[in-house]
Amino acid sequence: MNNGKICISVCAETADEMIAKIRRAELLADMIEVRFDCLPLAQAAFLLAQIADSAFTKPLIATLRASEQGGKNLASLDERAAFWQAKKSDRFSAVDVEEDAFDAAVDWSNRILSFHVFEKSSLNLSDIYKRLCSRNDLIKLAAYAEDITDSIPVWKLIEKALWQDKEIIPIAMGDAGKWTRILGLAHGAYMTYASLDDGEETADGQITASDLIDVYRVRELDKNTELYGVIGDPVSSSLSPYMQNPAFAATGVNAVFIPLLVKDLDEFIRRMVTPATREVELNFGGFSVTMPLKQAIIKHLDEIDPVAERIGAVNTVKISGGKLIGYNTDAHGFITPLKTQFGELKNARVAVIGAGGAARACVYALAQAGADVTVFVRDLQKAEVFKNEFQVKLKQLPTDNSQLQTDLDIVVNATPLGMKGAFENDSPLTAEQLKGVKFVYDLVVRRDDTPLLREAENAGASTLGGLEMLIAQGIKQFAIWTGREAPEELMRESLKARIDKRQ
Ligand code: NAP
Repeated sequence: MNNGKICISVCAETADEMIAKIRRAELLADMIEVRFDCLPLAQAAFLLAQIADSAFTKPLIATLRASEQGGKNLASLDERAAFWQAKKSDRFSAVDVEEDAFDAAVDWSNRILSFHVFEKSSLNLSDIYKRLCSRNDLIKLAAYAEDITDSIPVWKLIEKALWQDKEIIPIAMGDAGKWTRILGLAHGAYMTYASLDDGEETADGQITASDLIDVYRVRELDKNTELYGVIGDPVSSSLSPYMQNPAFAATGVNAVFIPLLVKDLDEFIRRMVTPATREVELNFGGFSVTMPLKQAIIKHLDEIDPVAERIGAVNTVKISGGKLIGYNTDAHGFITPLKTQFGELKNARVAVIGAGGAARACVYALAQAGADVTVFVRDLQKAEVFKNEFQVKLKQLPTDNSQLQTDLDIVVNATPLGMKGAFENDSPLTAEQLKGVKFVYDLVVRRDDTPLLREAENAGASTLGGLEMLIAQGIKQFAIWTGREAPEELMRESLKARIDKRQ
């Protein structure tokens, strides 16, 4: 348990809607930030009066953010100053004001002096911090991070502030800064900001209060908490936090699993992981590795498991005694539910569509099981390396409606076709093309059937989606990291609940 606070930032276009959101935020937050800049200025004054006449169970913070600092309306400095100078309300425990309007809010108690940096600029955060420190108030410093290592300077302000016995709210904005919002309280940040719901973020990278509390357990984390996370780009829609965090909680392991947006892997390893060169102490226990880093991570490993080496892709790293050890749990994750649902794979005729990272694990596992595998790709030349590495039959994916092969037992989709987003309505094959196929396995994870699985059902084939693979590979990751048996049913239920919520 740490002493940090969770502040839900609420934004609404009318005063009534704002009050309703404050009421909902009271159920979860330690403090509630009321963003007056979400309203037209006239409405802001009206809301101030309405709040003065109401009682609240949680402390409120008043904010009228300047537009150049991320505010939603275009109030000028004079207008903002006039707002703060008008009748102050005792209902607010604190106010959050930018440097330029700070003196105008002199009558308000507990001022938070805030500063936001949006561009990766030459602005030196240490200098800004020093300047802000010259006033004896709580400081909030937020800087946008494009890549995870951009957030290091913000993070290091916590140490500096603790050393100077000052309170600070340091935030790295954007997906690459999410880790600072999750870990800040454990390391001494005064507060972290949260959104009320998905889609209600008042700043880029904000996480919902319910996820901060129930999934990441930010109030319970401390400096000894082991840090795990998924590294890659993108990672913000990764489902793994919703499977690994409940497993840590249920087994009493002091660990947290978070999304870590890594664009430059070399810099991440050098500045945040390697004991001799790292600039931050985060107590990493390991990573899950996703696109596009599954092969790039290999050169950073101290040891690699023989299976991962043969596959040529690592999706799991365990850090032990400062050493990075790489594994591949995708192959196990892929084959386990297939064996359960299809049965014996020896001599089964299998078509794998795609020759990317997932296909590597599939082809390896199928070959180990004695299956007869053919890989179908859209670009034969590009897949030549894959063919040579795996000694596998390679064929052109038909662009017309013709069958892949007449005698197929199993078809596996290892392409992104069918994934939520740009390809969600696309199927690599039609029912016509799947005629005679016994079993279709789509690695894409969705709550509902993917277009390919619908085509497969129309063709009379049995089907399997990607969820069971995700669970099986995650269960093995958990065992590698903790040495414990994973709570499988809990992980499955937590994942399903998240997928249901997201649909
Ligand atoms: P990847 O490394 O990017 O490989 C994607 C493969 O799909 C490449 O061979 C690519 O061909 C091919 N492809 C892309 N668009 C295509 C199209 N329109 N038509 C035909 N082929 C196309 O991705 P990955 O990591 O292997 O992931 C592949 C799929 O598996 C994704 O849907 C991912 O979510 C899923 N997956 C699921 C799990 C799980 O646990 N369920 C685990 C891992 C992966 P080019 O090289 O020509 O672009």
